[in-house]
Parts: sequence; structure tokens; C-alpha cells
Amino acid sequence: MKRRDLLKAASTVGVGAVAIGTLPRWTQAVSGGADEHVDVLVIGGGTAGTIAAIQAARAGARTLLVEAGSQLGGTMTTGGVAAPGLFHAWGKQVITGIGWDLIIHALALDGGTMPDFSQVPQSHSHHQVHINGPIYAALAEEAALKEGVILAYYELPGGVTQTDGGWEVETVGKGLRRRISCRQLIDCTGGADVVGMIGLPRLRETESQPGTLMFSFGNYDTHQLDAELIQQRYRQALASGGLRPGDFQHAEGQFINFLRCGGTNAQHVFGADSSTSVTRTVANVAGRASMLRLLRFIRSLPGCEDARLLRMQTETAVRETYRIVGEVQITVEDYTSGRLFEDAIGYSFYPIDLHDHSGVKPQPLSPGVVPTIPLRALVPRGSRNLLVAGRSVSSDRLANSALRVQASCMAMGQAAGAAAALASQSGTTPLSVPFNELTALLRKHGATVPG
Ligand SMILES: Cc1cc2nc3c(=O)[nH]c(=O)nc-3n(C[C@H](O)[C@H](O)[C@H](O)COP(=O)(O)OP(=O)(O)OC[C@H]3O[C@@H](n4cnc5c(N)ncnc54)[C@H](O)[C@@H]3O)c2cc1C
Repeated sequence: MKRRDLLKAASTVGVGAVAIGTLPRWTQAVSGGADEHVDVLVIGGGTAGTIAAIQAARAGARTLLVEAGSQLGGTMTTGGVAAPGLFHAWGKQVITGIGWDLIIHALALDGGTMPDFSQVPQSHSHHQVHINGPIYAALAEEAALKEGVILAYYELPGGVTQTDGGWEVETVGKGLRRRISCRQLIDCTGGADVVGMIGLPRLRETESQPGTLMFSFGNYDTHQLDAELIQQRYRQALASGGLRPGDFQHAEGQFINFLRCGGTNAQHVFGADSSTSVTRTVANVAGRASMLRLLRFIRSLPGCEDARLLRMQTETAVRETYRIVGEVQITVEDYTSGRLFEDAIGYSFYPIDLHDHSGVKPQPLSPGVVPTIPLRALVPRGSRNLLVAGRSVSSDRLANSALRVQASCMAMGQAAGAAAALASQSGTTPLSVPFNELTALLRKHGATVPG
């Protein structure tokens, strides 16, 4: 179905479109909560899911995106981690497409600066693009609606059943309970929630990587502070319980460095787990308690009496929960050797980056190495009409610590959206789509495909 027809369908058929006064026609592609039949259903509108939905709709699939939260972008926006990377490797751009285009737009609208990608940087972080998260969320939403993606916020799957032609998903939301049938389902929940509901196997570690509540403190002048005295006080606070391990993620580090960066992404919430409402609540409460300990401690320091909390996200960002058991598993050897999979749908580029109780020590890739992601790693083993994109990609733990970053998640999202749209059109399952058709569609929409 063409985009024009899609928009018409969304606004007239009554399958869920709500009338929103005199707003532009495309904003009517907001779900009104009735039962639906779509080609592609994406669950989770985060880093990967947003791109998956835009790609599927752009390829002509009637696409519905169900998101538990209030906006698109997930960890990038609601989690406040607005530093997507890495799109460039060894002086060359290796990840392009819908996600990259949105980043360029977000940067342009906010007056931000692009890093210099012509040089191989000393630290990988110099090639992360610092964007304005709320602007990205708004632009992603605008792009999704323009493509005809039907958006459903504040909604969750309550039950998932396989049917002859695809799936039936029962969802619940505030004031609604409905059935959505679809040909192709894409799980972009970040924790393979849908895969878990179906009863397919998932992997997780006994102790996950810590999460982080993103906030920043300010209103003090670090040049005027006594770093040695502050370090003494930091040690005392840790010993007395005024501060707890993780409040500063580099436990053995100099607290003045925490103050220099305002504490941004410098805290750890141990055990942060987004897999259920209960664990999520615990992670948010723990994150905010940590922020309060830090603020009280900082304000007790000489020269920081007027310190303030400048910003804080509404939830603790989570690094790791479940990974799927896919048709293929990307191992750390695959990743660090830059294995070129025969069904590679995109590249990934990042150091091995496992956070633990003592912080993180990234292990850079060897010069010239650019890992790839096979389509089979997005397909839960033995499944049909089901894809997973984002940080729960089939991989071992160390490979996952690098694959989970935003540029790679966007590349996976775009591949999943394209594969689902093609499978829906030809009445087959994603792994049966001719691979050259998939890569042609991805390239048509700006993605970089290995080979
Ligand atoms: C603290 C921290 C710092 C990081 N730093 C960087 C960095 O600097 N650069 C970088 O590139 N990457 C970084 N990462 C990694 C990266 O941000 C994430 O791994 C990536 O964004 C995950 O993308 P995703 O699409 O898999 O999940 P998410 O972006 O988390 O999206 C999942 C979405 O699904 C929704 N959802 C979840 N469950 C359901 C459900 N059952 N039904 C409906 N919706 C649901 C969520 O609300 C969310 O919107 C960091 C991660 C963390 C936690």
C-alpha cells in the first residue's frame, strides 16, 4: 500500500484513527484504541523500534508501533542517553540510513556540532554525536507519522498468539484492551519481552551490568574547589554510608572528576533491571535515592553550598537484561575479528564495553576491524514471522556489550523493518525473503550493507 493510501486508511477506515481537530492530516495516524489488522506490528518504540517502524511503513507496510512510554527514542530520549555512536570506523562512515538522517536533522534543528570524523579519535567517545534528546524524540515522531506509522503510546502486550497468517497480540493500556493481528511482529522492547511471552528461550546473566540514572549537577566552580579535601570527604562519606558504592561509578576515582562532568553518566545503579514493572520501579527508586545522596553530599562540600540539580531523567536507563537465542549467535570472537557474515545486514562498531562494580574499561577493536551483524541474529531460533532488533540481539555477553550501542541498534531496526515489510508483502517469513531484495531495499533507503 502506498503512503498516501495508508494515511487515507488510517484517517477514514475507523480502525483506530482519532480525529484531532484541525491538526495536519498525517497526525491523524494516531491509534484510537480499536482492534486493528496491520502488516507489521512493532512492540517498543525505542532506539531500534522507531527506525524499524519508519522503515516498514516507508516500504509500504501498514505499520503499528506500540510503546509502553510516552514518546519515541527509548534509552536515547526517555533514558537521557543522547550520545549515539558509533557511525564511523577508521575514517569511514559504516552506519547510515534512517537513524543517521534523524540525527542530522536533530543536530541541525538544535544548532549542534558534528564531530570531526576524518581522524581516528584517541577515545571512541569523541565520535559519539551529542544530540538534544527531546528534539530527537519529536523529530522521530514527526517522521513516523509522516510515513503513516500508527502510534500507540502507553500500551503493552498482554498476550501473544501465533496464527496461520502471523500473530494476534492482545494489548492493554489505560482505558483499553484490544486485539491487534499482524503478519509480522518485531520485538524492540530492549529485553525481548515478546519473545519471553511466547515462551522462546532467552539468556541473561546472574548479575546484569549496572544501569544509570542520567542527571547533572551544577552551580559550583570546580576551579575554586580543593580536590584533595573533596577526595577525603568522599572517602569518609563512603565509609559512613552517606554515599554508597555506585553513586560514583568509578569507585576508586577522584570525586572532583564527578563534579567536573556534573555527574552526567558517572553514576551506577547496581542490579537495574527493566524486565518487569516491579524491577523497573526498584531501579527508578534506587536511582533517585542515589541522586539525593549525591546532592546532599555535594552541598556539604566547601564551595558547593549552592549546588543544584540541573536536570534529571524520569527513569533509570538500563544497560542489560535478556538476549535472544537466535538462528545464529554473534560471539566476541566474531565481533573482534570483524567476521563478515554471509547474511550481514549492517555493521556495528564499538569497543567491548562491559560495566561492572569498578566502572568500565573499554577494549578498543584492532585497527581496520569492523564487525557485522547477520540477519539470523535478529531471528529467534525456530520462530516464524518474528524479528528482534536492538540490544537483545542474539550474541554472547561480551559481543553484546558492544552491539548494544545506538548506531548498531538503529541499523538492526532498519534491517528488521525492511525484512518484515518484504516478508509481509510476499506472504513469507523474514529468513525466506531473497537476501538480494532485502539488501536492495535497505540501500534504497540509505542504509549501508556490508559487501
Ligand atoms: C546509561 C547508559 C549509557 C549508554 N551510553 C551509550 C552511548 O553513549 N552511546 C550509545 O550509542 N549507546 C549507549 N548506551 C547503549 C544504548 O543506549 C542502548 O543499548 C540502546 O539505546 C538500546 O536500544 P533498544 O532499541 O534495544 O532499547 P530502548 O532504546 O531501551 O527501547 C526499548 C523501548 O521499548 C519500550 N518497551 C519496553 N518494554 C515494552 C513492552 N513490553 N511493550 C511496549 N513497549 C515496551 C521502552 O519503553 C522503550 O521505549 C548506553 C546505555 C545506557 C543504559
